[in-house]
Amino acid sequence: MKRTTPFTFWLLAAALLLVACSGSQTGTQPPADGNPAGSGIYADDVFMIVGTTTQAYDLLTILTDGVEGIEIIPLMGAGIDPHLYQPTESDIAAMNEADMVVYSGLFLEGQFDTVFEALREQGVVIYAMSKPVKEGGFTIGGFDLSEELVDVDDPHFWFDPRNWELTITDLAETLSEVDPDHAGIYTANGEVYTSQMELLFDWANQSMRSVDEGQRYLVTSHDAFQYFGAAFGWEMTAIQGLSTEDEAGVGDIQGVVDFILQNQIPVVFVESSIPPDTIEAVIEAVRAAGGEVRIGLREMYSDAMGEPGTFGGTYIGMLAENVYTVLQSYDCAGAAATIADWPVELSPQPPADLLTADCGS
Ligand SMILES: [Zn+2]
Repeated sequence: MKRTTPFTFWLLAAALLLVACSGSQTGTQPPADGNPAGSGIYADDVFMIVGTTTQAYDLLTILTDGVEGIEIIPLMGAGIDPHLYQPTESDIAAMNEADMVVYSGLFLEGQFDTVFEALREQGVVIYAMSKPVKEGGFTIGGFDLSEELVDVDDPHFWFDPRNWELTITDLAETLSEVDPDHAGIYTANGEVYTSQMELLFDWANQSMRSVDEGQRYLVTSHDAFQYFGAAFGWEMTAIQGLSTEDEAGVGDIQGVVDFILQNQIPVVFVESSIPPDTIEAVIEAVRAAGGEVRIGLREMYSDAMGEPGTFGGTYIGMLAENVYTVLQSYDCAGAAATIADWPVELSPQPPADLLTADCGS
């Protein structure tokens, strides 16, 4: 994939301006410094929030549960790659109409920058879920080989539930500032959900560390799992860099093949939002070199969660399903792993078919 040309950015900006000029602005505009005035968001009867990614939509839905007159609009669905996703005309119209836009940040939504800038100028509250993680000093520094992004932070911060906990608390506070009438609900929802994160972290940590330290290597298509690895004691390697905009070259594939052979890594994983061809090329090359490697039992969720209404369509289910998928795949490949019992207070419960693995032939 080629990087977006400036021309596309200008087109987007122009589309946004058009919508801005033609649309009727009914919601109160908070001051541009991001400090919302607080009272007028229901002037048009609806507090409208746009969430860019599946993670944003999920968190907004949980934090606003029980608030009347709120509308959460998702932009990207399951299986969508946010690095490459271009906002459509209707996305731009929705964001333009919204009182607030919640996005992931750290350049995850690589094609949205111009749009966010224009929205901010209009007074829409723009909230980056990565903000409290960055401010707390918990981001992992990354490097990006593309020309425009050098020394950027790794955007995949949500894969450590302790980071997500920071986001939950901070977003609940921000919602309370924007909509003080419902501050009690946002705060209470946030408190319940952060305690769920602690249970999730403990369960995942205990499970992931059951594998021998010398075997804790995870190979995926793109570099989305550094936080996941750092949280649970695994070393990560990926074919593509932090953004799927970095094309995988022959050298990248060979480097990963060598790494797999050297460390006798038994499994490699396809991600749900990325085409499987680079991983397939790696498997072929490892086998050609006499190595033994198999593909993960299921795709992993990296930048997009699963379909709404499924276990993997929730943040907790998405992270847990990744843990099940990694550990069951390793177990099937002969690297012993013990998955801890699911905590009864942690919801949703994993579906029965996730609890047992069919190793196949
Ligand atoms: Zn990514």
